[in-house]
Amino acid sequence: MSTKLNLQDFIEKVKRENPNEPQFHQAVHEVAEILIPYINEHPQYLENKVLERLVEPERVIQFKVTWEDDNGEIQINKGYRIQMNSCIGPYKGGLRFHPSVNLGILKFLAFEQVFKNSLTTLPMGGGKGGSNFDPKGKSDREIMRFCKAFMEELYKHIDENTDVPAGDIGVGGREIGYLFGHYKKLRSKFTGVLTGKGLGFGGSLIRPEATGYGLLYFVECMLKEKNESIVGKTVSISGSGNVSLYAAEKCIELGAKVLTLSDSSGYIYDPEGIDAEKLKTVFKIKLEDYARISEYIQYYPHATFVAGKRPWEVKCDIALPNACENELDLSDAQKLHANGCILVAEGANMPSTPEAVHFFLDNGILYGLGKAANAGGVATSGLEMSQNSLRLNWTREEVDQRLKRIMQDIHEQCKQYGGSIHNNINYYKGANIAGFVKVADALIAQGF
Ligand code: NDP
Repeated sequence: MSTKLNLQDFIEKVKRENPNEPQFHQAVHEVAEILIPYINEHPQYLENKVLERLVEPERVIQFKVTWEDDNGEIQINKGYRIQMNSCIGPYKGGLRFHPSVNLGILKFLAFEQVFKNSLTTLPMGGGKGGSNFDPKGKSDREIMRFCKAFMEELYKHIDENTDVPAGDIGVGGREIGYLFGHYKKLRSKFTGVLTGKGLGFGGSLIRPEATGYGLLYFVECMLKEKNESIVGKTVSISGSGNVSLYAAEKCIELGAKVLTLSDSSGYIYDPEGIDAEKLKTVFKIKLEDYARISEYIQYYPHATFVAGKRPWEVKCDIALPNACENELDLSDAQKLHANGCILVAEGANMPSTPEAVHFFLDNGILYGLGKAANAGGVATSGLEMSQNSLRLNWTREEVDQRLKRIMQDIHEQCKQYGGSIHNNINYYKGANIAGFVKVADALIAQGF
């Protein structure tokens, strides 16, 4: 008979064995507080030490990236790939290029990815990687040289059946193109080793849109459950990157009114709503000019730019934190609630602090956590892998339909395992348990 797990002891041990990794501790705590009571009631998970095994990455690769800037100066960055768990398929998860990247951040993201990928119902394990390289202000050639230098090492550890990276913060279509081109050169083969590729060389339709679109499909399911509709609802969105732009596009298409977008310098508030025309301007600002979101008010002077702040003080029905981890804290959650917000769904990974999450749950705000709500991106990456293997391209409608079905399926799994809290589905509990069960059963079946 195994000893039952105790949350406090478990977390203390994780902290001791993984020092100075606060984001990883936070992600493990979030999962463990839900899973430990469940595991204690299911002896097969307890006896096989499944949770203890899941917090340990299968492999951590760290390497040096040396490249030359436009002034001919040598630059040195750190590169990483965390191969977290491959029980149900090849490692799958994005690459992040941002100065804040370190081992702890990537371990948190890789750990989350294991559960998220399991929820998609597709055969994908979990991984994550990246570098502390800062793409901001770099020339196109510098980005290319960095990507090549990064791939010089990464290519030894990845292929289409082992580990298939994608994009994340700071890694979009351009970077994936350079990374893919160099992998092809180094290996002399054309394979589906990365997802998020250009359409002309193995990419899938809808992949760039998928996280944002999938988020809104999930929000629609959440609202439908409460006999509500998104039409006419006001929406605050943070970020103005890949996830945010396509989430905004889908909101507008579905008849909601988008009030805000942001970046790390502040947020813009357009009381009349950012409509489809205005969103085209935002796409130009961010994806063609690589400029700041504050540029928006040059085009639309009736809007305001609020420097150095986050958009959660704006009155809205729905909040979509889509920028980065821990961008929404308890005081933000309280403001949203006081202003009548009914639903929060996370396009970003772990954007709400633990205190904010518990505030949502305790105050009847519908809360769709990132693991479930933003899984559409990796799900469509899975669809890109399938198309690459089949050497086929599905139409836009086909991919979109599959994405929608996957998000509905994730919603059903949350419902099945989550039960209810304050008359809402407990997505927090449901997503964590549903994601866990499939991986845990595979882990046990494969021995140790
Ligand atoms: P992008 O790099 O395209 O955009 C990130 C956005 O967030 C930018 O507007 C950026 O502003 C802002 N941001 C980044 N850091 C901060 C910060 N510390 N404070 C305020 N704003 C910040 O990334 P993505 O849109 O791809 O990713 C956003 C989030 O979604 C991340 O949490 C990512 O892990 C998650 N995610 C992404 C998926 C995808 O398919 N891309 C899939 C699932 C989750 P600035 O330009 O000023 O830095």
